[in-house]
Amino acid sequence: MHISEYEAIAHKLDQEDVLANFRNEFVSNDFIYLDGNSLGKLPKKTIELQRQVLENQWGNGAITSWNAHWLDLPIRLAEKIAKLVGADTDEIFVGDNTSINLFKLAFAALSFQKDKKEILTDENNFPGDLYVLQGLVNQHFKEHKLIISENIGSQIYFEENIFAQIKKNTALLSLSAVAYKSAYRYDMAALNIHAHAHGALTIWDLSHAVGAIPINLHETNTDMAVGCTYKYLNGGPGAPAFLYIRKDLQSALQNPISAWFGHAAPFKFSSNFESSNSIQKMATGTANILSLAAIEPGLDIHLAAGIENIYQKSKQMSSFLLEMATEYLVPFGFEIASPIDVKKRGSHISLGHSEGYRISQAMIQPKQPMVKIIPDFRPPNYIRLGLAPLYNSYSEIFQTVKRLIQIIDSQEYMQFDSEIKGVT
Ligand SMILES: *Cc1c(COP(=O)(O)O)cnc(C)c1O
Repeated sequence: MHISEYEAIAHKLDQEDVLANFRNEFVSNDFIYLDGNSLGKLPKKTIELQRQVLENQWGNGAITSWNAHWLDLPIRLAEKIAKLVGADTDEIFVGDNTSINLFKLAFAALSFQKDKKEILTDENNFPGDLYVLQGLVNQHFKEHKLIISENIGSQIYFEENIFAQIKKNTALLSLSAVAYKSAYRYDMAALNIHAHAHGALTIWDLSHAVGAIPINLHETNTDMAVGCTYKYLNGGPGAPAFLYIRKDLQSALQNPISAWFGHAAPFKFSSNFESSNSIQKMATGTANILSLAAIEPGLDIHLAAGIENIYQKSKQMSSFLLEMATEYLVPFGFEIASPIDVKKRGSHISLGHSEGYRISQAMIQPKQPMVKIIPDFRPPNYIRLGLAPLYNSYSEIFQTVKRLIQIIDSQEYMQFDSEIKGVT
């Protein structure tokens, strides 16, 4: 198809886009932002809300704001996150970061599953998650073995290997629902069934899934989950994360950090720790109120837009991008490193190229006055294009592919250093 036909299709899809107005809920930038899967854009409401929390709640209210506003905040956020992930409010704790939440849940699960000695994950899992599991085995669960399933023969598809590696001795299966590099989307329900049949518990990391694709923790029979709020959910840099434990498992699991906000009655100031029975048992210390408050506008936008609408647009956007990329980028040496089957992918597309890093630099800092595009880069050579249905348009996707063609055609990327620096 001639490239101008893609431009016309993009224009038409933008006009028909039922979510088009949600773009106005976010600050505008002079670049095309394709990194919503790393750090979501700032909702305009968050700016005013932060001012209110600072001036009215902290400034005017000082400590009285704990009772007036802050004690209820994590629970109100849990209620909203629960709606996005198909869980109940009393199964979600909001706070700490994803790594800490994974540590707490994995520690608790391994302690509960005393007689089983294997933890199963895979090399597509987020490295930070692998580090947490490695640390548990190296420092505490020294008789346990961490098995990192490898991709055999393919960068993307290998779910079958994992099914085969779940055994009687598997205590815990810990995977990402959507792989951070390839966007491969796992069959959570099928893996949970298989794990349960072998007596294993599961922890799913939802960081690259929540806010972009529908998740139903009840329907998929998920035992535990963690996820972050600063990617598709637009909670802000380092925003607090969340965790989930299904109701009937909660009494069996103990937080390895017995801290005062997980106490049954923290404000009785008893000298002895007595764990809360609710999901609150997974709390540690005082909630990060300022950054918790910043999560709410993003959640409200998602609930107003509807996760099904968001997912429909995500699928249509990634399909449009893949179609253009196949026709116009593959001939320039790009490799499509995300699943072709729309049902098997999340909301970002990875494009491999031997000059991936320098190409991503040219997108971010064009040498001539050209449209600036912000993707991210993951070694060894993947440019990730995060498609955030709430604020990205089809025309932006069109412009991105057009710009990539130009960068390769003109060899503009050759002007950039290939040494990787700072946050990519
Ligand atoms: C982004 C991300 C995290 C982030 O962990 P933090 O501890 O909150 O920094 C964890 N896991 C996955 C899969 C991620 O994509």
